[in-house]
Amino acid sequence: MKFGLKHVARLAAAGAAIAIFPPLVQGDERIPVFDGHVHYNEAATIAYSPAQIIAKMRAAGVPRALVSSTSDDNTLALLKEGGTAQVVPFLRPYGGQIHSGNWFRHPDALPYLKDRWDPDRYAGIGEFHLHQVTYADSDTVRTVARMMAESDRFLHVHADSRVIEAILAHTPDVRILWAHAGMVDPPEVIARTLAAHDAVWAEISIRGFEIAPGGTIDPAWRDLFTAYPGRFLTASDTYVTEQWDAYADIINRHRNWLAQLPADVARAVAHGNAVRLFGAGGVAELEE
Ligand SMILES: [Zn+2]
Repeated sequence: MKFGLKHVARLAAAGAAIAIFPPLVQGDERIPVFDGHVHYNEAATIAYSPAQIIAKMRAAGVPRALVSSTSDDNTLALLKEGGTAQVVPFLRPYGGQIHSGNWFRHPDALPYLKDRWDPDRYAGIGEFHLHQVTYADSDTVRTVARMMAESDRFLHVHADSRVIEAILAHTPDVRILWAHAGMVDPPEVIARTLAAHDAVWAEISIRGFEIAPGGTIDPAWRDLFTAYPGRFLTASDTYVTEQWDAYADIINRHRNWLAQLPADVARAVAHGNAVRLFGAGGVAELEE
């Protein structure tokens, strides 16, 4: 589905409050999306080759993405195919016996991360999960947070706001990319977290149906984006292969609500903020 002028007109006819903003898309032009949350996990490698994944991203108007995978070798395969212009690799701790529920206390996780960590290759460590506040206090999480603070790289954290607070309590100088903006946290909690911590950015993968139920942007979310235009990234989260099957639709659904924001805010959230944090890479080719 393309979101051209016809689509904008349909939204306007449906009463969406977008008419005062210039349309973001003209004809077939689509706003480039820097995808802040991509995985190329084991099952996806069976369904799609690295070349097919890179082609899917390009076809969806996604010139660059943050990529982490189970296992990390799959991220490196995608990096080899797409190059650093397209792929911004994050080192994920998962693989073999190490998974989302045990990595922070598994004895092999920290040695694995230390062995593979290379600040010239990776933009950070993650995406990892921390489902309990107490997990944030483990030696592994403390050490990883310190490593990222010292090399000026990011943690990509799937956790709620209380866990983010707990990480920043022991490592206040680390930069955090907050996966799914907390997944369960409502706009007022996200706003409070961003207000309290300048070095937290949030990506909104999997939140699209809350941001724009039925396609029309929710006023609380619109106010959140306009209050913190420099702090959000657009993202898909290809955690299962079905997300790759539907990849272009996922990105286009995001474009739909982005088009209902002021144009400068939409550009920042679609790619501008990610470019500022991680560099332009392939986005430069698509930007006018
Ligand atoms: Zn996640």
